[in-house]
Amino acid sequence: MSNRTPIIAGNWKMYKTNVEAAAYLDDFLDLVADIGNVEVILCPSFTVLSELRSLTSDSKVRVAAQNMHFEQEGAYTGEVSPPMLKEIGIDDVVLGHSERREYFNETDTDLARKVVEALKAGFRPILCCGETDEEREAGQTQEKIKRQLLSGLAGIDAAQLATVVIAYEPIWAIGTGKTATPQIAQETSKFIREILAAQFGRDAAQQVRILYGGSVKPANIKELMAEEDIDGALVGGASLAASDFAQIVNFR
Ligand code: PEP
Repeated sequence: MSNRTPIIAGNWKMYKTNVEAAAYLDDFLDLVADIGNVEVILCPSFTVLSELRSLTSDSKVRVAAQNMHFEQEGAYTGEVSPPMLKEIGIDDVVLGHSERREYFNETDTDLARKVVEALKAGFRPILCCGETDEEREAGQTQEKIKRQLLSGLAGIDAAQLATVVIAYEPIWAIGTGKTATPQIAQETSKFIREILAAQFGRDAAQQVRILYGGSVKPANIKELMAEEDIDGALVGGASLAASDFAQIVNFR
């Protein structure tokens, strides 16, 4: 077991209004009251961030944004800036989720800027990477992950890397019910740590939390968390029900 504190993050995507989020917390906060050494993060829509932040202020639950623009302000209709998120007390931000890359054309170049600006503004970025089914079949998994990591982290140094969280999310496992086996998830997470070590040094790489994401459920979290280089999970579908997500958080 590593001494890295596990992170279990729930990505609500475009689900849950403020009313629904409040009802969720009514159940969830009691269920995770005794979590011990695990960081719990909920990632709601922008409109829910502020309310969720105040409803969780007396708990250990953190609240993260699902995206952020790299500019401080400007003519970018529909976007949200770092100071806007900071103003409402947000300290964590998911960047480069595969749905953002696929449906909203986010590129590695955009993400490199977002990571730099996030760190500059004092956020902890959760940078996502992962391969498609076709890329895995074609033996291109490592090449894709390496490119996403090296481009996304191009503007930062070893000291900053410790604040970054990486989420390995094989696209073929997201929302499909097909979880990567613990062996596949571990093999790729180990590869990610090796890439980070080669680029930033072994000490910095050892501090980075690497999360697995892709159909994580109460039934498979324990075996995934038993793997050496898996330091937590980014959970989509199973984070939408308070009881399921609480079971994942209480994986021990
Ligand atoms: C995700 O969206 O980040 C995710 C991992 O989704 P799911 O758990 O539903 O596969």
